[in-house]
Amino acid sequence: MPTVVIASNNKHKVSEIRQILDFDGWDFKTLAEMGLASDPDENAQTFEGNARIKAQAVRTLCPDCAVLADDSGLVVDALDGRPGVYSSRFAGEDATDAENNQLLLAELDGVAEQDRTARFVCTIVFYDEQGNEFVAEGSVEGIIGTEECGAGGFGYDPLFYPDVFGRTCSMAEVAPEDKNRVSHRGNALRALKKMMQ
Ligand code: IMP
Repeated sequence: MPTVVIASNNKHKVSEIRQILDFDGWDFKTLAEMGLASDPDENAQTFEGNARIKAQAVRTLCPDCAVLADDSGLVVDALDGRPGVYSSRFAGEDATDAENNQLLLAELDGVAEQDRTARFVCTIVFYDEQGNEFVAEGSVEGIIGTEECGAGGFGYDPLFYPDVFGRTCSMAEVAPEDKNRVSHRGNALRALKKMMQ
């Protein structure tokens, strides 16, 4: 298998993708390592649509490359699915993770634990060198806590308490390999791997 360009400027995502997708012979490269710059407008209304925009933008720059793009986010039931595809810009176009987390806590102020259910969702769009498209999805269920806990991961991890860990610790409190074992990104990448075998 050839070089695969990861169509993301998010270094946390790139590192997780590299840890999870351990295909023999796959050589993952970042945009920077390929000398490419890509930051397209993510204006689709679905994770799949935005992942496709990111993947196609890189295919345009490098038509013979295999490309993998991830679009992901947090879907909160009490907020009718928000922030969803707007997860990275919930508190504004250039919002930091801390600002997004503060806004999430504010919007859920007063919401009881049983109503704080949420899930991380990830869609991967992969193009092989010939341009054949593969789409894979993954998710992980949990609840939104009432304060940030833990220093691992990124984004909303300090506020997200996965069901699979009994809601006793946040996604930012577990080791990277434990996050990858249960995460939306891990599940999507494992689904992709199955599809490709
Ligand atoms: P994207 O880069 O447009 O796909 O936006 C992804 C956003 O969703 C991130 O900036 C985070 O806010 C959130 N997100 C996605 N995956 C994770 C994760 O694994 N942990 C925490 N937050 C995540």
